[in-house]
Amino acid sequence: MPTYEYKCKDCSLIFSLQQPIWARLKGATCPGCGGQNTERLISRFTSKSDDSCGHGGSSGPFC
Ligand SMILES: [Zn+2]
Repeated sequence: MPTYEYKCKDCSLIFSLQQPIWARLKGATCPGCGGQNTERLISRFTSKSDDSCGHGGSSGPFC
């Protein structure tokens, strides 16, 4: 089951929630204040960065 990160717009609490994929459409309830005014954050996971490589045309495959 994937984990989603939410941020409460009311109390600015950031929390993560395990939800099935279908449930993310319904949003989440803030565990801090119980409000429904939450937004899902795009979870950023560190993958191979394309930004640091491939620019400038430097020599050598360092990535
Ligand atoms: Zn809240």
